[in-house]
Amino acid sequence: MTDIKSMTQPELAAWLKERGEPAFRAKQLFLWLHRGAGSFDEMTNLSKSLREKLAAECRITRPQVARKQVSALDGTIKYLWQLQDGNCIETVLMRYHHGNTVCISSQVGCRMGCAFCASTLGGKVRDLTPSEMLDQVLFTQLDSGLPISNIVLMGIGEPLDNFDTVLRFLELVNHPDGLNIGMRHISLSTCGLVDKIDKLAQHRLQLTLSVSLHAPDDETRSRIMPVNRGIGVERLFAACRRYFEVTGRRISYEYAMIDGVNDSDRQADLLAAHLKGTPGHVNLIPLNEVKESPLRPSRRVAEFQKRLERQGVTVTVRRKLGGDIDASCGQLRRKAMKEDTLDGRA
Ligand code: SAH
Repeated sequence: MTDIKSMTQPELAAWLKERGEPAFRAKQLFLWLHRGAGSFDEMTNLSKSLREKLAAECRITRPQVARKQVSALDGTIKYLWQLQDGNCIETVLMRYHHGNTVCISSQVGCRMGCAFCASTLGGKVRDLTPSEMLDQVLFTQLDSGLPISNIVLMGIGEPLDNFDTVLRFLELVNHPDGLNIGMRHISLSTCGLVDKIDKLAQHRLQLTLSVSLHAPDDETRSRIMPVNRGIGVERLFAACRRYFEVTGRRISYEYAMIDGVNDSDRQADLLAAHLKGTPGHVNLIPLNEVKESPLRPSRRVAEFQKRLERQGVTVTVRRKLGGDIDASCGQLRRKAMKEDTLDGRA
C-alpha cells in the first residue's frame, strides 16, 4: 500500500493524473492529510469513486500514544509513539517564550554509538519514513492542542543518516498547504557526517545546522563518538566552514559537558582556536546522566563558558527542561523497552 502522506504535492498530482483525476485534487488531498485526517471517508470534497480508489491503494499513517508524560516543572510534554509496525519513537514538546518547539526523531534507534547517548544503546532498528517524521509534529500539535512554531531534529536517530527522508520531510512540513513551518524555525542536529553536510549545503536551506561536537581534539572525540574515527575534527571543521560559505548560515555547535572528559581549560582553548574565523555559536549542554553509562556531568560549565567567552566565542548554556520526565532523548524508549510492556519492540 502506498504511504500517501510521504508524497509531495507534485507527486500527488502525478498519481491522480494517472488515474484520470484533475490536478487540483492534489491540493485538496494534501490539505486533508496534513490536517491529520485518519481515513479517506472523511475527505468529503473528493468524489466517492476517488475515495474508494485511494482506500484500495493507499494507507494513511497514524501513530498511537503509547506513553505521555507532562512535566510538572515546566510543562514539557514527552510522547512515546507506537508506529504501525509496533516500533516506538519519542517526541518532546518544549514550551519556550519564542514559541512551542517539538524535538522529533528521525530513526528507530541509532547506529552512531555515542558513549553518552541513550538512543544508540540498542543500535538502529530502521529509518523513519517522511510521513512518520511529519506525524510527530502533526499529532503532537493535535493531541496537545498547542500550536507548534519550531522544530528541532534532535530526537532519536541521526538525521543525515536518513538523508533523503529528512529532505522530503522538510519539504512537506514547510509547505504552505501543510504545517507551513518556516525553514528558519527548523534546526537539524548531526553528529558530523561530513559528506552529508556538503550534500546538505547544496540545497541552500535556511534552516539552522547544529553540529554535535562534544570535543575539540581527536583523541577525546573518537573515544566518546566513534563516528569521529573515520573523519577527524579537522575535516569536520573544514566541512562546517564550507557549509557557512555556501549557505551563509552560522553553525551552532553542541557540546555536552562531561566531567573530566571534555571540560579542561586546554580543551576550551582548542575549541576557541578552531572557531577563529568561522562564525559559529557554542551551546554548552549539562550532560544528562544515562544509567547505563559511567559518564558524569561536568562541574566546570561556568568556567568553561567564561574561558571561551574571553576568547571571543559566543556561548549559551542550555536550560534543562523536563528534568522530572526522562525528557532527554532515548530515555523513555529505553525505559519502556526494559519494562517490556510494549511487545518488546518499543
Ligand atoms: N544524531 C544527532 C541528533 C540527535 S542527538 C546528533 O548527534 O546531533 C541530539 C543532541 O543531544 C546531540 O547534540 C547529542 O549529542 C546530545 N545528547 C545525547 N545524549 C546526551 C546526554 N546524555 N546529555 C546531553 N546531551 C546529549
